[in-house]
Amino acid sequence: MRFNIIKTDGNARAGFIETSRGAISTPAFIPVGTQGAVKAISPDELKDLGAEIILCNTYHLYLRPGHETISSLGGIHQFMNWDRTILTDSGGFQVFSLSALRKIEENGVHFRSHIDGSMHFIGPKEAMEIQSLLGSDIAMTFDECTPYPSSYEYTLKSLELTIRWARRCKEFISSEFVVRSSGSLITQNSKLKTQSLFGIIQGGMYKDLRKRSIEGLVEIGFDGYAVGGLSVGEPKEEMHGMIYFTAPLLPADKPRYLMGIGDLKDILIGVDAGFDMFDCVMPTRNARNGTLFTSRGKISIKREEFKSDRGPLDPDCGCCTCRNYSRGYLRHIFLSKEILSMRLNTIHNLHFYFNFFRNMRKFIIKGKFVEFKSRWEAIL
Ligand SMILES: [Zn+2]
Repeated sequence: MRFNIIKTDGNARAGFIETSRGAISTPAFIPVGTQGAVKAISPDELKDLGAEIILCNTYHLYLRPGHETISSLGGIHQFMNWDRTILTDSGGFQVFSLSALRKIEENGVHFRSHIDGSMHFIGPKEAMEIQSLLGSDIAMTFDECTPYPSSYEYTLKSLELTIRWARRCKEFISSEFVVRSSGSLITQNSKLKTQSLFGIIQGGMYKDLRKRSIEGLVEIGFDGYAVGGLSVGEPKEEMHGMIYFTAPLLPADKPRYLMGIGDLKDILIGVDAGFDMFDCVMPTRNARNGTLFTSRGKISIKREEFKSDRGPLDPDCGCCTCRNYSRGYLRHIFLSKEILSMRLNTIHNLHFYFNFFRNMRKFIIKGKFVEFKSRWEAIL
């Protein structure tokens, strides 16, 4: 994986990440395909919208249909018919947020599946093995995302464990062999060797612990650095403070990834601080709930005022939803719970997000990011 910054404007950066599957313009928005599908939209449509990278969830794909099944079907790209870059998370976040009955030990976590109640174990070794067999282009280290609020003592203990897990992930991905759970050894093929690994910074809302986490991970050395454990219920000011605190401590020559942050106002803060990558379910989930992003702010399509509205959803948008359907129709199919409503709304919201990112990048390149940021802060 290569990363080139072509222009900085203040701390905002415009660049390219290159993987063996193609280039990703940064700042980049990463749509979330939790179960190996970005909800309501096909890979071809995603490409037409301009998606260059998507995220798939290791935890969900491990539980169903299983990483070995996906591997036997040709790996995650072939399985879901997406030939561009795929980033897999490590499963850590979901193990800690979705499953009941967790028991943490040095080697990983015992947890109960949220689907059928069966018991499982994932640690750094298992997380790397699963992501290797899925065959993603960018893998993430296994981490514990501490809830908000967490005590200083707990957060410290947790982040030290997360650093030890990160080291084991790095050792494992660097080794020549993938150890399968059955105990047999398989040689990594050349495709798997192209898998990059990002480390995840934790440390809760404590600045000295965030710094400690960054130092520990940078010492190990990763292809990119992600900040996790934000947007977990803390006040916005605290989150923004931590975004501005962590970014300059991360290596400047590696991609910086702000995990799970998708509110456009927060993305402006993230880019302003110097982050390059963002993932969130917000545009797709909001679309299915009838909340749509427009050049004049967010609207809820179910509102009575749109009942007889012949106009497009967003007069400034060129997506196929806005070119072909009225607000009155979009309101009707939303209230009627038509599947088409989810599809048309998702196409529009993703188009809006990609357009936002493309324009933001142009403004960074022109040295006018501040203008872009203040214009959108007034609208959002
Ligand atoms: Zn549109």
